[in-house]
Amino acid sequence: MTLAENRTQATSPAEPATFDSLDPASGSVASTHPVHTEDDVRAAVARAREAATWWSALSYDERAELLGAWKSVIAQRIDELAEVMRREMGKPHADGVLEAALAVDHLAWAAGHAEKVLRRRSVLPGLVMSNQAATVGYRPLGVVGVIGPWNYPVFTPMGSIGYALAAGNAVVFKPSEYSPGVGTWLAATFAEVVDRPVFQVVTGWGETGAALCRAGVDKVAFTGSSATGRRVMAACAETLTPVVIEAGGKDAVLVDADADLEAAADAAIWGACSNAGQTCTGVERVYVHERVYDDFLAGIIDKAKDLHADAGPASKIGPITMPKQLDVIRSHIEDAIARGGKAVLGGPDAVGERFVQPTILVDVPEDSAAVQEETFGPTVTVTRVRDMDEAVARANATRFGLGSTVFAKEHGMEIAERIRSGMTAVNGVITFAAIPSLPFGGVGDSGFGRIHGADGLREFSYAHAIARQRFKPMMNLTSFTRTAKQDRQLTRLVRLLHGRGSKKNR
Ligand code: NAD
Repeated sequence: MTLAENRTQATSPAEPATFDSLDPASGSVASTHPVHTEDDVRAAVARAREAATWWSALSYDERAELLGAWKSVIAQRIDELAEVMRREMGKPHADGVLEAALAVDHLAWAAGHAEKVLRRRSVLPGLVMSNQAATVGYRPLGVVGVIGPWNYPVFTPMGSIGYALAAGNAVVFKPSEYSPGVGTWLAATFAEVVDRPVFQVVTGWGETGAALCRAGVDKVAFTGSSATGRRVMAACAETLTPVVIEAGGKDAVLVDADADLEAAADAAIWGACSNAGQTCTGVERVYVHERVYDDFLAGIIDKAKDLHADAGPASKIGPITMPKQLDVIRSHIEDAIARGGKAVLGGPDAVGERFVQPTILVDVPEDSAAVQEETFGPTVTVTRVRDMDEAVARANATRFGLGSTVFAKEHGMEIAERIRSGMTAVNGVITFAAIPSLPFGGVGDSGFGRIHGADGLREFSYAHAIARQRFKPMMNLTSFTRTAKQDRQLTRLVRLLHGRGSKKNR
């Protein structure tokens, strides 16, 4: 049974339609959830709006205390949450624990830093308006709709949920149809510590997500594919609802001649194959300096050859969550080979009915799907380059720009500065995602807006500027009483301040 066949009709108005979430390792039913309708979603948003009034009126400390209590519940029951993840989307238990641990760490940071980042602060009013006291504060938006993917069903949406809640908003969350139980678990544990509908979940398919876009929320934080991101943005445009789009990627690793090759190979294969390659910031391409290409290739093959995707208890690579993705992965491998590429590990036969074995491709043309499109499987292309100029040019030559990685001793930072991506790890892989003070997000088809860090808190608030007059001005610029003499004085002042074009005077 596939997920698409898995919809049940409502038998009576009192009994809502439901859908099943399936274990991708076996196809058996993991849990059953309601398909929330447009009316259900609107009702959830209305409840959230009322709760938002109460939540936003709490002090930062009061909110931090409640979010801290929720954080403790998640931390205490982290194994239970990892198990829900494993059943619904196939992630090995240990990886589920790692994911939830990172999410908890972000929640702690958001709750602990919200006041410092968002509270009202003074800014300089400038010479012309020196009689004013200028301040800016960041206020909650109200109700934030979060639409999430299944691949990191805790960490990814929590990057929006945790930061939006810490900024004083209520949240209505629509988890992926492949991981509704994870979303429901998060909302249920939140309800154990906050008895008002500050954080609710609505479940269902894309239609439920679309209903959330149209339900009058104050912002939508979407994480998913670029194609769905476009639909979300179009729906939100109807009501001028602002959006954050966290979409797909095609992340590259650049390996310079002086890199630690052992560490680079280890990072590249983990970045490519962990979570069965279903990571937005997963490694899909590697560009290696020609002087070390052969050694790097031998090293990555050596590290990958004993990795095996299966459902065993010690497995480090789980199943492909969406059955339809198997065709995409197979087609990228076949296309690469048909166009002159070679599989030095794995290949078309590595794509099974539920699992895909690690696949390393070389000599793949740069305009092939395996280099340009998101594969979302445990596959990686390894390409020889003359130097890091060529590596940067190739890394930057897709329409995506989410994360990137550089392995280099001397020029790591310089190379990182030249890559067009929202985040870069130097001599590590995906490390930026685990640092709560760093913003997370992309450019181009990878989306826009930021979660995590101070930028993530501001993303779920709006700036409110106040200019307060401290004393009467020498010349009142915003009045019809302004005289011709004052206008001449202003002209002199502006020439003095800005007429010479040097940076200092601006
Ligand atoms: P998806 O686009 O298929 O679905 C994402 C969510 O959107 C789901 O909850 C889905 O029900 C909902 N949805 C579908 N149609 C909708 C519509 N018309 N209106 C509103 N909502 C709708 O993506 P997915 O397969 O769940 O996730 C995988 C994708 O997510 C990959 O491309 C991956 O790179 C990306 N991703 C990005 C990040 C990031 O932070 N940039 C993180 C994780 C995953």
